[in-house]
Amino acid sequence: MPKAVAAQNTPDAVRALIILMNTANPNIPSAQLIAQDVDSWQTVMANAIHTPEALISRLKLDPAALDAAYPGHRQFAVRVPEPYLSRIELGNLDDPLLKQILPVADEGAPAPAGYGPDPLAEAHANKAPGIVHKYKSRVLLIANGACAINCRYCFRRHFPYSDNRLGRHEWDQALEYVRANPDINEVILSGGDPLMSTDARLDTIISSIENIPHVTRLRIHTRLPIVIPQRITEALISRLETSRLAVIMVVHVNHANEIDEHVGHSLARLFKHGIHVLNQSVLLKGINDRVDALSQLSERLFEYKVLPYYLHILDRVSGAHHFEVSDAHAKSLMDELQGTLPGFLVPKLVREEAGAHSKTLIYP
Ligand SMILES: *Cc1c(COP(=O)(O)O)cnc(C)c1O
Ligand code: SF4
Repeated sequence: MPKAVAAQNTPDAVRALIILMNTANPNIPSAQLIAQDVDSWQTVMANAIHTPEALISRLKLDPAALDAAYPGHRQFAVRVPEPYLSRIELGNLDDPLLKQILPVADEGAPAPAGYGPDPLAEAHANKAPGIVHKYKSRVLLIANGACAINCRYCFRRHFPYSDNRLGRHEWDQALEYVRANPDINEVILSGGDPLMSTDARLDTIISSIENIPHVTRLRIHTRLPIVIPQRITEALISRLETSRLAVIMVVHVNHANEIDEHVGHSLARLFKHGIHVLNQSVLLKGINDRVDALSQLSERLFEYKVLPYYLHILDRVSGAHHFEVSDAHAKSLMDELQGTLPGFLVPKLVREEAGAHSKTLIYP
């Protein structure tokens, strides 16, 4: 315990020093900019808010939100690190970033037909430990079950696998599965969030995948660069840049406000080092179900060289039905978006269906 406290205290001390230096020298960039770079992503993660009380007090929200938050929190705990919180408007219960992370009373309302705990029936596609193989040429490898943030609309809310990690034997079995299937040319690190693993651990994982000759591409599905932009470390970039595999990073942003200057800088650095960066979003009622929100998101992503990839129809997971947007509204949004943006900034509207051989295209 004292050790952890000491580790957390050091960056605070450094931050105080920087603020002092800044007052003396106005030519040094803003204290906030430097302070965010001084804290390691693990420190930021360790200091994440994980109670409704802390969230409501940090964001100066109406205390009445507390009672509403508790039932949802007990099912799927609040978890939000500071960099994401810093982009939320204080006191505004309608903030599009807040709505992604604050449990509300609607989570407990009875769900319409079709909603359940495992809408994608992923249990059946679990061919080996840590492997989800549903589409011919590519497999998901669940490198880490934990996430840096708990998104209220996520199917993870029903799986208590938050810190699951493959043991050595299971890990070997997962790799053996890929090795024995020459159809697989792409491995997708997924989770949870694969970037919750340390750089050293990722190095080992990537090396093992590089040793399988028929794999040519490595994809990383992650929300961490958005939640904690410091996660894009020098070590990570240089490991990805020197891989023999083509590397694609698919990040997850739902609203333009999630991309501040730090996030943008991290994303642009990936691009600069030869990593293709794509974005997937979930279409969420009250968050991004308007043409202006979607077009601003695409424009903002492209400012930092990121291309939109998928816009997902919500998975029908119980507790998330209040985020649902009807297919008809989703298609009309896409029609308008197509008339607003260049084609390369229009994501594909898709749904994931249990048993399908790919995502199901809803638009175009
Ligand atoms: C989404 C998904 C993929 C990747 O699909 P792409 O269309 O290639 O992006 C692969 N496997 C599973 C199980 C998926 O859900
Ligand atoms: S898997 Fe993605 S959407 Fe789900 S909680 Fe983690 S970061 Fe959020």
